[in-house]
Amino acid sequence: MKILVLNAGSSSVKYSLLDMADHSVLIAGLIERIGESVACHSYHVADSAQVRLEIKSANHQQALQVLFETLSACALLNEPQELACIGHRVVHGGEYFREPALINAQVIGYIAEVVPLAPLHNPANLLGIQEAMRQMGQIPQVAVFDTAFHQTLPDYAYRYPLPEKLYVEQGVRRYGFHGTSHRHVAGKAAQFLGKALADTNLITLHLGNGASVTAIKNGESIDTSMGMTPLEGLMMGSRCGDIDPAIHFYLSRSLNLSNDAIENLLNKDSGCKGICGENDMRTIHQMAEAGDDHARLALAMYAYRIKKYIGAYFAVLGQVDALVFTGGIGENDAWLRAQCCQDMTLFGIALDPQKNLQPSRPCQNISQHSAALAVLVISTDEELEIAMQALACLEDQ
Ligand code: ADP
Repeated sequence: MKILVLNAGSSSVKYSLLDMADHSVLIAGLIERIGESVACHSYHVADSAQVRLEIKSANHQQALQVLFETLSACALLNEPQELACIGHRVVHGGEYFREPALINAQVIGYIAEVVPLAPLHNPANLLGIQEAMRQMGQIPQVAVFDTAFHQTLPDYAYRYPLPEKLYVEQGVRRYGFHGTSHRHVAGKAAQFLGKALADTNLITLHLGNGASVTAIKNGESIDTSMGMTPLEGLMMGSRCGDIDPAIHFYLSRSLNLSNDAIENLLNKDSGCKGICGENDMRTIHQMAEAGDDHARLALAMYAYRIKKYIGAYFAVLGQVDALVFTGGIGENDAWLRAQCCQDMTLFGIALDPQKNLQPSRPCQNISQHSAALAVLVISTDEELEIAMQALACLEDQ
């Protein structure tokens, strides 16, 4: 049984075709620079070398046409019916979706309704859904939401201390993101620990270009660092994370900056990039090793802010079975993991330096044998999680 996972962005479409028998990836590809004069399609079939092709002036419709033609040309999809379903990544489900949803007109209506909450993402996700339905209408399509896993937050965690009507009328509340990844590694962690997810308490750290941390109690998200938008919480590659909201007004008055300029500054020129001019963690390490003090400061701030959240979520959870690192940085950056876990014996955290240096994939406990708490490094797989959730949603119908 095959499932196609689609992640449609405003200028790109990322896809994977999975064989659900063994969870192998049959083909994974990316069509980028959609809307420009020349778009680029790169893909690789199973373990073969990457193919890179140019496409003249593609829109989303042509991008999906190219995708389906490629699946057929590679003999991976001879007829549409070989697909059990198409799983679409959708960033924002508002309060409508706690679970994946089989897509119909009502679901599309809800996704459109929350566009103001994710103006950069939901319109592109919708375009991908509508185009896939036009071209592959006979195949069931399932929306899997980044926000859905966090719909279990209690009201005292998701509400902001703002006037009630801003929540009721404008939907101003914490939604949380990266839900698919947090859910995926939580399942893997429980399996690794030999426990039922419903009995497992975790602090999961998804550290990639964007970064978020989630407190998971008995398998459910009860707090998470990203908020109404993905700007809140941890310091990120180019996003500021938590700052005093009054900085916004101060900048507006003192530098006469518009809302758009401030939004841009906080999203694209802040975080690590704001401190040291670079947002890629590998480059920041190279700069720090070469003696760049700004890069050292960025690393110190990045780790310090994670540590504060770990402490806070220990307080929120009371009892924790494991701390989980995932995402490009969480999975690969041994220095950062060591820094976040330093002087945390109070919480039962004591890393084994050797295991931390080279954790084996897809899951390893990098704690010392004698440590009270497991610290796990787990490879995230959002595409597989979307495919599994889409399949479970179909089976529930
Ligand atoms: P995205 O959020 O876009 O999916 P990823 O999860 O791929 O991003 O994470 C990208 C980040 O991971 C980049 O900052 C990159 O530098 C960092 N990264 C990847 N490999 C390593 C490594 N070996 N050491 C440190 N950072 C790494």
